Amino acid sequence: MSDYMIYQKAKAEIEERRKNALLEADGRNEIARSESEEIRRIDDELTKTGMLIFKTAVEGGDIAPVRERNKALQARRRELLVSLGYPEDYTEVKYSCKECSDTGVVGTRYCNCLKEIMIRERIAASAMGRLIEVQSFDNFDLSHYSYDPKVAEKMKMILAMAKGYVRDFATKKGNLLLIGPTGTGKTHISTAIARELIHQGYNVIYDSTQNIISDFESDRFRSGYGREESKSEKYLDCPLLIIDDLGTEFSNQFTLATIYNLLNTRQNKGLATVISTNLSPDELARKYEDRIYSRIIGSGTKILPFEGKDKRVTK
Ligand SMILES: [Zn+2]
Repeated sequence: MSDYMIYQKAKAEIEERRKNALLEADGRNEIARSESEEIRRIDDELTKTGMLIFKTAVEGGDIAPVRERNKALQARRRELLVSLGYPEDYTEVKYSCKECSDTGVVGTRYCNCLKEIMIRERIAASAMGRLIEVQSFDNFDLSHYSYDPKVAEKMKMILAMAKGYVRDFATKKGNLLLIGPTGTGKTHISTAIARELIHQGYNVIYDSTQNIISDFESDRFRSGYGREESKSEKYLDCPLLIIDDLGTEFSNQFTLATIYNLLNTRQNKGLATVISTNLSPDELARKYEDRIYSRIIGSGTKILPFEGKDKRVTK
């Protein structure tokens, strides 16, 4: 989903909140008016004094007396609500967000409530939607590696490096390669990285190599008609792309060219890429030509070597 679509969705949700807040206040006003004749009379008069204030102001008259009368009516109205057993602000509009009155905007900025929805939508739209709920740095369990103190020490280092990557992301934006056997925690760590950076407001995209290639493939074959959204564009311009399970994709000329183009474009744009793979450096070298290999494992890349037994087997 594009940033614009995410914004549209968030905006629609805020508008819905505002509409509901206004509707509910209308409903409470109807209840109050149905229960008190004096409130009905006050409301009629308030409407008139509102217009009178406007008219007097336009004609350059003194609006102070009408203002006073207006205030007194509102105070009386609050008293009446309390005497009916309601809170004194019962009929006021209760917006979900007091900062922006459910408009999504404060001055010229997006309100935090709108930003929060956008973050949520971004997570939901990403392949890791579910994983991100359950996998974080906090619940990465180092005790799983306690059977071997050396492995435990290395995994502790990896965890610290991953946290450091997130901490320095705004200034460094380097690449990471998570390398090691299946079931040693690579997915957990890469999901945790995504989770943290999404919460910092970055548009993070996370998907398997196979799905990413499929999106490039479908763009390649789609018709030139209509206004279909490009599926692959996002991989070329998101600030962080996490490519899961590199090496498991079916390999042919097209997939190799796609992977090269993807990594090369991102490198040229200075965009960060995190790759996880079960292949060893030797296997990577055999599977990919030099120009790809050097972009997977090259100088701008920090390597996190995962170790240990397969969690899913030992559990
Ligand atoms: Zn707000």
